Amino acid sequence: MMSGPDRNALSEVAGDALRFDVPTARFTSLRVGGPADAVATPPDRWALAALLRACARRRIPHTVLGNGFNTIVRDGGLDGVAIRLSAFRRLEERPGGFLRAEAGVTHTTLTRFCRERGLAGLEFGAGIPGTVGGWVAMNAGVPQREAKDVVREVEVLSPTGARRSHLGRRRLRFEYRALRGLAPGSVILSALLAVRPGGRDRVEAEIDRHLAKRAGSQPLDRPSCGSVFKNPRGDFAGRLIEAAGLKGARVGGAQISEVHANFIVNRGDATAADVLALIERARGEVARRSRVHLETEVRVLGREAA
Ligand SMILES: Cc1cc2nc3c(=O)[nH]c(=O)nc-3n(C[C@H](O)[C@H](O)[C@H](O)COP(=O)(O)OP(=O)(O)OC[C@H]3O[C@@H](n4cnc5c(N)ncnc54)[C@H](O)[C@@H]3O)c2cc1C
Repeated sequence: MMSGPDRNALSEVAGDALRFDVPTARFTSLRVGGPADAVATPPDRWALAALLRACARRRIPHTVLGNGFNTIVRDGGLDGVAIRLSAFRRLEERPGGFLRAEAGVTHTTLTRFCRERGLAGLEFGAGIPGTVGGWVAMNAGVPQREAKDVVREVEVLSPTGARRSHLGRRRLRFEYRALRGLAPGSVILSALLAVRPGGRDRVEAEIDRHLAKRAGSQPLDRPSCGSVFKNPRGDFAGRLIEAAGLKGARVGGAQISEVHANFIVNRGDATAADVLALIERARGEVARRSRVHLETEVRVLGREAA
């Protein structure tokens, strides 16, 4: 819990861009999770840097969040400040076949931008919900293609807000659903993405193909956080969970989706504890039956409920 003096110090720096004790269920897609001590939505880079400086000075932890499509916060809530970059939405074409997208640009906007201009290269991301920041931080993608294939450079602010750098491809260590090598607490400000002229009809058709594939294979009608586990090498987490007989299994309000066994859906009244118990049940059953240890793709943050 954040102390009174810490609250006052942050209020002085962030003013209206700061709210205290905000339920994280409001900004995570599974709609579970306890309150964040504070949530900040800095209006620009200067305000963001000032906030990071103030957090560093008072040793207040911060967590950068996109749109929470890959994040679960435990029921006890989140220490310190959750920083949301929804004001960072600039998206523009750059000479030489590039887009510069700020971290808060949503994937829907990015897809629409490419569709309208007939820009090819990013169609595979159509329907992956979230922001450019989350996409880069997660190296999000589909089996054949992921963020690392199109990200040419990432602009990063250091955890204390003191230094801004442009990291080219050689300095970015993308792995399966992760970007390694950034200091913890670094903030991705923007990314330079490679695109090429593709012809509007062709780009549109490719985007629609990706969206249709998703609509048929994912439970898009209930809150979820997408794939819960990473696919183990040469296999699919969903197949293993289904083979363990867990499709449809429930803990409280959380359920392993009947449509895709690597998705957990919130039936309306789930808690983070329900979801995490179901995750451990799936992990345990798959290990027992198939001798495969499943690793979570979803990021779990925050403190246990008291
Ligand atoms: C229905 C559904 C389908 C999905 N399909 C796919 C899919 O096909 N492929 C796939 O890869 N994923 C998929 N996902 C997961 C999710 O969409 C992606 O991981 C997405 O990139 C998350 O973006 P976000 O902005 O919501 O990130 P968040 O969940 O908010 O954050 C994810 C991580 O990134 C970090 N982060 C976010 N922004 C920044 C920033 N600016 N600077 C530093 N760190 C940051 C956060 O700290 C956190 O660790 C799906 C999710 C759902 C709900």
